[in-house]
Amino acid sequence: MNVYDSERMVRLLQGCDYQVTSDIRQADLILLNTCSIREKPEHKIYSILGRLKRMKDKNPDLILGVGGCVAQQEGEILFQKAPFLDLVFGTHSINKLPYLLEKAEERRSKVCDVEIVEDGYLDEGVFDSSLEKVSSYLSIIRGCNNFCSYCVVPYVRGRERSRQKEEILVEAAHLARRGVKELTLLGQNVNSYGNDLDDTCDFPRLLASVNEIEGIERIRFITSHPKDLSDELICCFKELDKLCAHIHLPVQSGSNNVLKLMNRGYTREDYLKKVGALREACPEIGITSDVIVGFPQETHSDFEDTLELMKEVKFDDLFSFHYSDRPMTASIRFEGKIPSDEKKERLKTLQELQNNYSLEKNAARLDKVEEVLVEGVSRKDVNCVTGKTRSNKTVNFPGGDNLKGRLVSVKIKDVHLHSLSGELV
Ligand code: SAH
Ligand code: SF4
Repeated sequence: MNVYDSERMVRLLQGCDYQVTSDIRQADLILLNTCSIREKPEHKIYSILGRLKRMKDKNPDLILGVGGCVAQQEGEILFQKAPFLDLVFGTHSINKLPYLLEKAEERRSKVCDVEIVEDGYLDEGVFDSSLEKVSSYLSIIRGCNNFCSYCVVPYVRGRERSRQKEEILVEAAHLARRGVKELTLLGQNVNSYGNDLDDTCDFPRLLASVNEIEGIERIRFITSHPKDLSDELICCFKELDKLCAHIHLPVQSGSNNVLKLMNRGYTREDYLKKVGALREACPEIGITSDVIVGFPQETHSDFEDTLELMKEVKFDDLFSFHYSDRPMTASIRFEGKIPSDEKKERLKTLQELQNNYSLEKNAARLDKVEEVLVEGVSRKDVNCVTGKTRSNKTVNFPGGDNLKGRLVSVKIKDVHLHSLSGELV
């Protein structure tokens, strides 16, 4: 979501005579788009701000702004923590950026805008600017109503708001005309799409409409909340030719006690049933997930339940985090916090287990021919290009920039923990 928001900021600023530079020392304006989902990214921001302060000391004309979830969370307080900042803008203020910058440029005072506007902030419009991308995000729903007990998102991104279907389709067609071949529809919970709209367009129907757009060859989405994963959506994997065989379905824990404390709204049995239904509808589907270890009151036996669930599902990949307290959330007040060393130990055990499965899943692709959408030259090796399979595995293989944007067949010759390598066939 932050990548998408940063792109929106760039497009808006290009409309007011700003240009992107790859050399930070050349910049007249630096905006830091921030994430507060866990403690670690938030800490990182303060160390980056220390670096930016030194740049500002050398060049007092430099304009510095902080946007995104930390800005939303902290508001004016950020000026106390970092008095050299000129601008603080929240998650609902991106559209106002040109106006806020104009105010900051006048330099009469510091500018802070962290208003949560429940109406109208989705009026994002379609931007016209050059794109060099093969794959693009497209936001369809913002905010979240779920209030998982550990999560700061509903507080920093506000309540769920779906974008109008027509607006999404216009943006999708626009991206296709600009050369985008793969769309990832974005939302904290895409399954809730349309619940707040007057007409009766739900997420499966939106997917079916995007599937009709000429030029778009692949569709993906993140994130899907397991409790709202409907039979109709599972059916889409069978019926929509452009929908890729991959789903990110965050389970968070394999223990029913912990899932309840997390306020997730499903049990491990519900989750396993949905995984079964997905695999029945689309046997080649890649399933990835998120897990939080060391949630308050998580016992050894709860943790074992998570490992057991992993053994049962065998995720293709897993994003795992140790629990951290977030401001405003319910779990900050929970008793039974797990000591940091114990959380680290559990995370290590879980990640070691997952590495076996990631490798096993990749090894199963050996000698198979995969359809790969080429994204461009690999950053690690200029003689190679990189792309993704339909099940979202990264593939590197020898090739040049002329392949960018093409769907090609690649025979898998070698497998690694997080990628595959092969040869064009
Ligand atoms: N909307 C998505 C998740 C967004 S946050 C969903 O519902 O799945 C991305 C991931 O960060 C979450 O899935 C969770 O695993 C992790 N996360 C969120 N809050 C956290 C916290 N307080 N401590 C540790 N991990 C957290
Ligand atoms: Fe956070 Fe839960 Fe909403 Fe995901 S569904 S953004 S984890 S509150």
